[in-house]
Amino acid sequence: MCNRLYILNEMKADVLEKELLSKNINPTAMRLLVLKFFKQQHKAVTLGDIEAGFDQSDRVTLYRTVKTFESKGLIHSITSNNVTQYALCNSDCNEKKHRDTHVHFVCRNCGQTICLTQVLIPDVEVPAAGFVVDDVEMVFKGVCADCEL
Ligand SMILES: [Zn+2]
Ligand SMILES: [Zn+2]
Ligand SMILES: [Zn+2]
Repeated sequence: MCNRLYILNEMKADVLEKELLSKNINPTAMRLLVLKFFKQQHKAVTLGDIEAGFDQSDRVTLYRTVKTFESKGLIHSITSNNVTQYALCNSDCNEKKHRDTHVHFVCRNCGQTICLTQVLIPDVEVPAAGFVVDDVEMVFKGVCADCEL
């Protein structure tokens, strides 16, 4: 299925495999590579970024892999300005409890999106009967450290 398995040598394959198994994801060669790709990023990535990192692989397989990762609580999506990006979750996310209640930072200059995992979104009551909040996103905009230099 994938002839680039040798790349895994630099990052211990068994560590990645355990991480997939801990989220109930069957560790195929492709999934291991996509997880490794996410671990190498310091910012959130679009599907296009992932495709660019896997020139040999077909889009549908990559898309399905990303959707599986998202539904199992391995990655979460951030949508800003109609662009959806993905980043790794904390280890306590899973398919049942999948809430990444941290703030995301979008740089106005380079456009990168970063998880501010240490900045949590506060709980806010919705004082309207019949409304149920099941997801919340908070995006800070400004200039990132790379662009400040
Ligand atoms: Zn999550
Ligand atoms: Zn920037
Ligand atoms: Zn995030």
